[in-house]
Amino acid sequence: MNTQKITIAHGDGIGPEIMEATLKILEASGAKLQYDTIEVGEKVYKRNIKSGIEESAWDPILKNKILLKAPITTPQGGGVKSLNVTMRKTLGLFANVRPCVAYSPFIKTKHPDMDVVIIRENEEDTYGGIEHRQTFEVYQCLKLITLPGTERIVRYAFEFARANNRKKVTCFTKDNIMKLTDGLFHEMFKTVAQEYPEIQADNLIVDIGTARLADTPEMFDVVVMPNLYGDIVSDVAAQISGSVGMVGSANIGPDCAMFEAIHGSAPDIAGQNIANPSALINAAVMMLRHIGQNEPAESIQNAWLKTLEDGVHTADMFSAEGSTRKVGTKEFTEAIIERLGKKPKALKAVDFSEQKPAIVPELIISRTDKRPKMHQKRSLKGTDIFVYWEPSDPNNLAKMLKELSPATFELTMITNRGTKVWPNGLEQTFCTDHWRCRFKSTHAEITSAEVIELMSKLSQGGIDIIKTENLYEFNGEPAYSMGQGE
Ligand code: NAD
Repeated sequence: MNTQKITIAHGDGIGPEIMEATLKILEASGAKLQYDTIEVGEKVYKRNIKSGIEESAWDPILKNKILLKAPITTPQGGGVKSLNVTMRKTLGLFANVRPCVAYSPFIKTKHPDMDVVIIRENEEDTYGGIEHRQTFEVYQCLKLITLPGTERIVRYAFEFARANNRKKVTCFTKDNIMKLTDGLFHEMFKTVAQEYPEIQADNLIVDIGTARLADTPEMFDVVVMPNLYGDIVSDVAAQISGSVGMVGSANIGPDCAMFEAIHGSAPDIAGQNIANPSALINAAVMMLRHIGQNEPAESIQNAWLKTLEDGVHTADMFSAEGSTRKVGTKEFTEAIIERLGKKPKALKAVDFSEQKPAIVPELIISRTDKRPKMHQKRSLKGTDIFVYWEPSDPNNLAKMLKELSPATFELTMITNRGTKVWPNGLEQTFCTDHWRCRFKSTHAEITSAEVIELMSKLSQGGIDIIKTENLYEFNGEPAYSMGQGE
């Protein structure tokens, strides 16, 4: 086992206490680690650095490639950026892995057999933070789902299942509504699943999937999903496992990885020796496994399980049925250290001896000659022009647009909030000041110059254009959604 240098951040609130506890346990376990310490969070934000991280702190992170981070306090308002989102996106940490396990009967839960790993895509979806206010009434947030991003997270979920001897991967999407974006995720899942015949694969719509997960988590093993659903579902899963204060998570990228507790900096209990360090300890165990130090990882995890089943609990875990001794952060840490080398009896002991970390997969479908782009013809067939227009009779807007548009285009539809209001709209449809006007080409294919000409004519005629979206066909298939009621 080679010594590995990692970067650590002590964080804010209870961060320094739980980091101290974690480092003590790591040292006692025989883990071969050296540390570079960086400062992130509140103190840095207070120096008016909106990202919460000094430029100089990136050097050790990039050099060591592994970061163990205690929670930080994010100041409210003031235009500050979330450090976590910055870290994930800047370092390309595309996968968020969160194991949610019940430790019944020692930790109270309604789901004693729960053992689920949530794998959340970490970079895409609405988390690009691309938002605009377009009219007086309408605000938008762009949801971007990419072919390579989807392939990577889906492949990683199967690689994770394989490396951890898990039997099933379930995918949550909402492709009954978002047929293109979530449709891509689901299709990619089905395609990649075929390469892992030993692993069962199924898909659920995210709403019923979440309901079933909350009701019967035993039916799930590994669950993979896009970013926003994953953000919500991973919190639901952690909460119902009964151990929200004990869950660690890994953020994995091709080059770097970051490990952290899922809870925040808990300023309400900071400095009182009552914080539960378990989540950061579990994150550190995930880190050791990631860098191939399986022996100390196994030793810490088993000592921690033994401490739980011996009923030595911090206040947040304490219950009359499952606990024998209520202890502080320091005493809990000592209890784990005393149990290093021992195994739990009631809870299942872990064995990491044969385990290798899940590989970060190569992109096969989206980044080689197989890439669909190479074989697909993309042709421009029209454009959706979004206009600002006070809510009124859409027939008047249609009349004006038809008069202004050149013969190369035909106005085929107007929608408001995605619902068709022209032709043949219903009076009952509620309308805002934001209208999508669909123009299709009257000949086979059009050019960008023709779209610009159309926009120019409309604009000169007094139409207030907010934005446009091109209507493409890929291999003759429309690559845009229909209007509701179209
Ligand atoms: P929180 O998770 O810090 O606290 C929620 C509740 O859980 C509090 O009552 C707290 O005392 C308790 N709690 C949390 N961790 C605990 C532990 N280890 N042991 C015992 N009790 C624990 O959530 P919050 O109060 O919403 O957020 C506080 C700050 O943390 C905010 O500034 C928030 O932005 C930040 N935050 C940071 C991260 C991160 O750095 N990864 C994650 C979430 C929140």
